[in-house]
Amino acid sequence: MELLNAKKISDNKRAEIKERVAKIKQTTGKIPGLATILVGKNPASQVYVKSKIKASENVGIKTFHHNLDNNASKKDIVNLIKKLNENSEVDGILLQLPLPNNNDVQDCVNAIAPSKDVDGLHPINIGLLNLSKSWIEIIKKNILVPCTPLGIIYLLHKLGITIEGKTAVIIGRSNLVGKPIAMLLLANNATVIMTHSKTKNLKEVCRNTDIVITAIGKPRFINRDFIKDRTTIIDVGINRTPNGLCGDVDLNDVKDLDIKITPVPGGVGPMTITMLLENTLKAFNKKNGLKK
Ligand code: NAP
Repeated sequence: MELLNAKKISDNKRAEIKERVAKIKQTTGKIPGLATILVGKNPASQVYVKSKIKASENVGIKTFHHNLDNNASKKDIVNLIKKLNENSEVDGILLQLPLPNNNDVQDCVNAIAPSKDVDGLHPINIGLLNLSKSWIEIIKKNILVPCTPLGIIYLLHKLGITIEGKTAVIIGRSNLVGKPIAMLLLANNATVIMTHSKTKNLKEVCRNTDIVITAIGKPRFINRDFIKDRTTIIDVGINRTPNGLCGDVDLNDVKDLDIKITPVPGGVGPMTITMLLENTLKAFNKKNGLKK
């Protein structure tokens, strides 16, 4: 088993982003800005938002944080988003999910201006991604793509792992991870198999593939019964257990296999935040008519 060094790739990318932000400040006098919205006090969400703010400030992105009360209504959230849409200092808006009190997530996300939708969850951005025929087109058109899937593709490219012509199985069909990663893999010419909780023979499906991307949120669910040698595994799962964080893959069980795998923590997580920074710059550049 080879643990893929996602942390190093993520650190290098953040260093590059920091240089680009410094250059932007120098040449335009402007500072790219990211607004974060946290509703309530979900401990995991608090940690994620804090990490996102810290990472943004470390590369020189200006942050605007808004913490809404646990009882904030859809109207409260949408009104705040509308104000941020109008704020010229804000290039990206991140609404931390999940929302408490069954607030309608999609209605809130739909209020974000598509040009500031750095999580890539607005229907316009999802539509643009789904309509894209190639990876090159996605890059050239500066489409705002959800951060975790974008980070996964970036990681695979940087590690020199071939996607074109390979078979990739995705476990989990969420709007945040499963569906957009399927689109990105297709755009990179993989043959994609989407699976979910109703899939029959998941083990056999996974054993006949080159790449497995798991995003189910079940600690150590994927063991050696699912994996054959020479598979690349991207473990998106972040599961809190009494013994700390772990992914969807049982690392101990697969450790003797000839596989490459991203660790949890330290794998896809940091890449996700790095791509949020990248998307904020993308939104800034697009607004200001600048090239990367
Ligand atoms: P989600 O919305 O809860 O979706 C989970 C998906 O997994 C669903 O499609 C579900 O199938 C499927 N599933 C559940 N049990 C399954 C099983 N036994 N076999 C096959 N499929 C199964 O989750 P999400 O938002 O995509 O997140 C998934 C995990 O990734 C979580 O642990 C989350 O914390 C983590 N995550 C990490 C990052 C990061 O930055 N690293 C970012 C986002 C999410 P059905 O649709 O049939 O119910």
